[in-house]
Amino acid sequence: MLEKLEKIREEGFRRIAESSDPAMLEAVRKELTGKKSSLQEVLKSLGGLDPDMRKSVGMKANEVKNLFAEKIQARQEELIAGASAVEGEIDLTLPGTEVSGGALHPITQMCYDLNDAFRSLGFEVYSEDDISSEKYAFDNLNFAADHPARASMDTYWLEGTEDKRGSERLCLRPHLTGGSVRYLLEHGAPARFVYPGRVYRNETTDARHERAFFQYEALIVDKDISFSSGRVMIEAILEKVFGRKVNVRMREGFFPFTEPGYEIDMECLLCGGKGCKACNHAGWIEVMPGGVIHPNVLRAANLDPDVWTGFYTNIGLDRMVMMRYGVDDVRLFHSADLRFLKQFK
Ligand SMILES: [Zn+2]
Repeated sequence: MLEKLEKIREEGFRRIAESSDPAMLEAVRKELTGKKSSLQEVLKSLGGLDPDMRKSVGMKANEVKNLFAEKIQARQEELIAGASAVEGEIDLTLPGTEVSGGALHPITQMCYDLNDAFRSLGFEVYSEDDISSEKYAFDNLNFAADHPARASMDTYWLEGTEDKRGSERLCLRPHLTGGSVRYLLEHGAPARFVYPGRVYRNETTDARHERAFFQYEALIVDKDISFSSGRVMIEAILEKVFGRKVNVRMREGFFPFTEPGYEIDMECLLCGGKGCKACNHAGWIEVMPGGVIHPNVLRAANLDPDVWTGFYTNIGLDRMVMMRYGVDDVRLFHSADLRFLKQFK
């Protein structure tokens, strides 16, 4: 029996020494000292031995058990020390492993920069739900009852509400402007706020049209605002965003919720006004439709048009981003092509 124990010890020592990693060592430990191990079998059989033999075999078995514990502990320490040692020489001049991180999309970044620029002029940033209604998207904004934008060819009406009217007829907002009346009803006047967000159009997609895209709109409502203060504000915003003075011009435009409406063009920053692909060789680029708020819209917001006035500005985020980065094809920004987008990190 003692010889058997000696064999168990020898075999055990060999197995421990051969263990090359902590998991393997743990498996060996279970094999050598677990319930089904040869060592435990010897200990279980002690009862059947005569007293002298029982004593010496018991002592030897316990000695082997303790030796295994010591050896395993020592081997474990060796393995841990070995794992942290670096083999070979370290070249400290090698570049480190690059950590790749995400970044804001250039259009999102532009939106945040505009928020900062407008906040510095005392504007609040307001957000409205994506689901709107006929009342907010059209009725409040002076759209004629038969205006084509109300048709389901242009607007996504929500299932089950098509036959209803006004606030009962729900849609995905086709523009942001509905949020302006909602804000005015909640906060009253005077007010100055921006309301960026995603809008939805039920149209066939092509190079210049998407079913969902971002808009950025601003509205000021106050007493005695002059028409030209809209232009001054826009020039101030452009200067903040582009870090230099940008030439703008105003043209007539028509929108149901304005009277008069206008289009604001900025000088093409890519060609400096000479004409290029981005500005369609005009030297100017349309960036901001807008206009003086229509009296009917003020009435919808419970404001007296004889007391209050104001103006809208809708900023084309895509165009602004093109001008900022000198990219002449807007589709690239919507392409989700990371090779392109990574340049703007
Ligand atoms: Zn140009």
